[in-house]
Parts: sequence; C-alpha cells; structure tokens
Amino acid sequence: MGQRLTGAYYRPTNDVKQADLVLINTCSIRDKAEQKVYSLLGRLKKLKERKPSLIITVAGCVAQQEGKKLPKRMPQVDIVLGTQNIYHLPELISRKVESGEPQIAIDLLPSFEIPAYSPPSPVADDCKHPGHREFRKFVTIMQGCNNFCTYCVVPYTRGREVSRPVQDILAEIKDLADQGITEITLLGQNVNSYGQSLKNGDEKSAFPALLYAVAEIEGIKRLRFTTSHPKDFSEELMQCFAAIDKLCPHFHLPVQSGSNHILRKMNRKYTIETYLAKVGALQRICPGIAITTDIIVGFPGETDEDFEATMQLLEKMRFRGAYSFKYSDRPLAKSTSYDDKVPEQVKSARLARLQARQDEINLAHNREYIGSCVEVMVEGRSKNTDGQWSGRTTTNNIVHFPASDMKPGQLVTVKILEGLLHSLRGKIV
Ligand code: SAH
Ligand code: SF4
Repeated sequence: MGQRLTGAYYRPTNDVKQADLVLINTCSIRDKAEQKVYSLLGRLKKLKERKPSLIITVAGCVAQQEGKKLPKRMPQVDIVLGTQNIYHLPELISRKVESGEPQIAIDLLPSFEIPAYSPPSPVADDCKHPGHREFRKFVTIMQGCNNFCTYCVVPYTRGREVSRPVQDILAEIKDLADQGITEITLLGQNVNSYGQSLKNGDEKSAFPALLYAVAEIEGIKRLRFTTSHPKDFSEELMQCFAAIDKLCPHFHLPVQSGSNHILRKMNRKYTIETYLAKVGALQRICPGIAITTDIIVGFPGETDEDFEATMQLLEKMRFRGAYSFKYSDRPLAKSTSYDDKVPEQVKSARLARLQARQDEINLAHNREYIGSCVEVMVEGRSKNTDGQWSGRTTTNNIVHFPASDMKPGQLVTVKILEGLLHSLRGKIV
C-alpha cells in the first residue's frame, strides 16, 4: 500500500498532525484486535474535526469484514479498502476527493491477480526514522486460505488461497537484497500449499523449490518463513532445514490444542500423534531446531480434561515459545454458532496457567544458552538502555550486548552470559 501511495504523490511522515492521509491497516483475527481499530478511529476523529480535508482509510481484515457498516458507524472513515483491493488505493482517493462520498472497495474475486512487482519509489530522507536502517523484510508469497478452521475468520476476510508467481517473488527479493536487506521472511497462511493455485509444476515441492531459489539470491543472509499447517508439513520441507544453510533453524508450527477431540471440532485435520511424529522427524533432521506454536484455550466444548491434554503437550514439546489466546467468537466463523461456549473466567484462568508454565519453559531454554557463543544479526540500539545493542539469533531469540557502533544487518558472535525470560544478554567475542 505504501508503494502505491508513494507512486501517487504521497510520502510518509512521522508526525500524524502533518498527514493529509491516514491509512490504518487492520487485523480482525480476534475481537481485541478489532476493538483497537475503533479506539484509534476515535482518536483520529478529533484530528479530522480540526482538518476536514484529512482522508482516513481503513484497510485490511476489519475493512473487509465490516464493509459499508464501517463509515455508517464511524463517519470519519473516508475509504474502506478490502484485502484484495489494495492496488486500487490511488483511484479510490481520487474518487473520494472528487465526489466527497465515502468509497468502499471490498470485492473478493476468486481470480484475483496480484499485479506484477515493480520497485517502489524511494522514500525521502527526512521521512526515514533517524538512526534506523531497515535490513529485514516480510515478503508475501500467497494470500487467503482454504482450510476453514472452525474458529477462524481468515478465509472470509482474505478469500481463497492464491499464490504469487515465483518470478515475481524472486524479483522483489532481488530488489530488496540490492537495497541492503539481509533477512527475508516469506509469508503465507499455509506455505506448504504454496503453488497449488499456480497449476504449473509439482505442487508438493513448490514451496521447497521456492526456498532453494530464494537462498540463491546474493546478499540475503537469513531466510525464514511463516506459517506452516501441521497437516501439510511435508518431508520435502523438513529436508530444507538440513540442506539450506541460510534457512534459520526456527519453525513455527501452530498446534492450537493438545486434545484430539478439540482438534476435530476445530477442523484442523491432524491428531496430536501425527503432530508429534512430524516434529520428531524434523528434530532428527535438524537437531536443536527451535519450535514455536500457537495455542487457543477455551474453544467451545473444551473440558478440563481437554485443557490438561494441552498442558501435557507443553511438557512433551517444551516449545521455545507459544503465542496463546483465549478463544474469541468471530463473525462468520462456524464455531461462533456452537452452543457449548466456555465461560470467560474459565478461559482466563486456563490462559494464565498455560502462560505461567510456558514462561518457566522459555526461561529454562534461555538459561541453557549461558556460556555458549551464538551468531547474532544486529537490529539496532536497545531501547531505554545506553550503550546496548540488540539483535537476534538464528533461533529468533533477542540478544542484548554492549557495543559502540554497529551496522543493522551485520552479523556478530556473542557469548551469552545471562538468560532472561524474554531475552539473552552477552558480550561480543
Ligand atoms: N494460518 C495460521 C494462523 C493464522 S491466525 C495457522 O493456521 O496456523 C494466528 C493465530 O490466531 C492462530 O494460529 C490461532 O491460534 C489464533 N486464532 C485464530 N482465530 C482465533 C479465534 N477466533 N480466537 C482465538 N484465537 C484465534
Ligand atoms: Fe485460519 Fe486455519 Fe487458515 Fe490458519 S489454516 S488461516 S487458522 S483457517
């Protein structure tokens, strides 16, 4: 979206009061994310009262989900930009300016095509964050999802799964590498089914083949991807962790629940046994790989027993990190109509227990690093601590260390002296 705007005579500002256009990119995966959008829009309303020419655009999943209802409920909204309409942003702005009417573009087209990649216009120096150089980028390789997990809004807000052509992805990454980007994360809801909508070549190996091709690009030092669905996690992909040096030994594999009964109700299409078997095979191929996950507690019908099965899974897996959430009803998601909802206090208590245990596990993992030397990609100066810099290990741990002058994107070796809950501390060797 930024790319489209800089091509249309806009440039970024760090000061919202100076803005002629505010673009809010939104998430509706849980109700909490959606509520944040409304409170931000509340604050922007005051700004718009002082500057009526300000154009407020809401993009992303809340825009897609709410459509026409959004400007009715929040008249300060000028443009509602659905998830597959982002390329029309410049036209919508012109139409808004000419007609004065709110513009709503939320068509989801099964044949949607992502326009071919074209390099972005350069950003003016005075609009860059001072002392902050970008070295890491996310690159979208597919959009949408065909899985219909019963709790999930994604198939409705992002439409059916569509893969981006390989040549386009490679062109974008080459361009990023030329600009000095050293780390790439490939993004898709289920990267293992990348290529299925392209209908050329072998579907099963399309994503591994893409990884091999990206790893060839000069200048890219680290490669990551997210997310993989356990049901589609293939042997070919496991092998990539052994075969591709640049592929970081960190794998995010959302499990959602430790109970087969709940997994079935979630329509996840795997069992805990197959999840553990696949993870075991991966660990044999890539010993020491850091596995992280997503967990939902309090899915409708989750009994104490089901929840205990999730707690036992934490012990078996000893994840290197878990994003955990209370189940939240979403519009159109099938589970919203289930009548065996778990009471709010029960969900909160389960989440607190799970997070407390996972914190202990995270801390234990971080302490295991003490005394070892790790490769760190420098990110920037640590916030609030003078003379400290921070970066990440290949396993995605944050490391703080003292240094005088570093270049973001640079690789250094750090000896770990301390393992804390959310980070490691050490010194450059
Ligand atoms: N495509 C990815 C994840 C997408 S959403 C996958 O399939 O794993 C990110 C995470 O948000 C999910 O893994 C899930 O844990 C959580 N989530 C999604 N819908 C939710 C809901 N209705 N309530 C609570 N958490 C939810
Ligand atoms: Fe949602 Fe399931 Fe698709 Fe992930 S795989 S985006 S959880 S429907």
